[in-house]
Amino acid sequence: MQNIRKIAVLTSGGDAPGMNPCIRAVVRTAIFNNKQVIGVRQGYQGLIDNDMYDMHTRSVSNILAQGGTILKTARCMPFKTDEGQDIAYRNLKEREVDALVVIGGDGTFTGALRFSKRFPDIAVIGVPGTIDNDLYGSDYTLGFDTACNTVIEAIDKIRDTADSHDRLFFIEVMGRDSGCIALRTGIAGGAEAIMLPETETALDDLIRDLESSPNKSSSIVIVAEGDHHGGAYDIAKIVKDRIRSYHTKVTILGHLQRGGSPSSFDRILGSRMGYAAVNALLRGETQKMVGLRGNHIETTSLEEALTNHEFKLEDDLMEMIKILSI
Ligand code: ADP
Repeated sequence: MQNIRKIAVLTSGGDAPGMNPCIRAVVRTAIFNNKQVIGVRQGYQGLIDNDMYDMHTRSVSNILAQGGTILKTARCMPFKTDEGQDIAYRNLKEREVDALVVIGGDGTFTGALRFSKRFPDIAVIGVPGTIDNDLYGSDYTLGFDTACNTVIEAIDKIRDTADSHDRLFFIEVMGRDSGCIALRTGIAGGAEAIMLPETETALDDLIRDLESSPNKSSSIVIVAEGDHHGGAYDIAKIVKDRIRSYHTKVTILGHLQRGGSPSSFDRILGSRMGYAAVNALLRGETQKMVGLRGNHIETTSLEEALTNHEFKLEDDLMEMIKILSI
């Protein structure tokens, strides 16, 4: 088993609230175990540009409550090439780094696995950091809970206006191809309907459901950005053409869902995952991700995390959509 002395940590892909608590836990757990830590700026770009710095316990003071990532993040095309990865490897070896913690989504994990297969002498552990909650191997990803809280706050506010004006609002939420944010926030915000990429909602059914609740003073439909009908504007237009009596409005929540101070859940999850990532490295694990499963931290191989596309939406929540909104 390789003796780890120096661990590099980076955040990559889309930022997510909870990344900072995770960086803090990686740094402090490593230092507690007498390991050195290097922070890499701008994700994989920092590996190629040699943009790295020594981190100490005080480098991560007072960041628990900050959204985003103090290490910054980037999308880095050169890391997808062998040449880019060769440079990254050389830079890490020159600094005597023997392990890497990458915090990000499936693109980040794809890059990490490829790099680790080419250069197995650098151990790699992934931490799932994305608001989309779209990775196998963890019930929750970092940032998902905070994003849901942000969306619910917005739905509550829009509900006030929808109620006052008897309006039908379509609210589009993030999640890429995943409906996790839409499903949770739709239930928590009392939406009349939820449009998810994982299931086909017939627009005829949606219109029938909306028309069958004529006594409702307001209606909110949550649309996941990956829904196959297109965005909230497209769906609203079709509905408006069919139900002329409705005043429809559309709100795209957009990037405000990615920001904000991490919730207590994400602070704790980030801390647990960062702590677990370093401990996994110290046990000699590599090409794994840490994840939360049934309130226990477990490791899953990156290969499995990237190839298993388990349906992640809870059955009971799916069943409740119609029942709780009648
Ligand atoms: P996320 O990690 O949030 O899914 P991206 O899909 O943008 O975000 O991936 C983050 C970064 O991971 C990319 O900018 C790139 O540097 C790296 N990456 C993604 N796919 C690959 C790949 N097939 N090979 C090598 N690196 C990759």
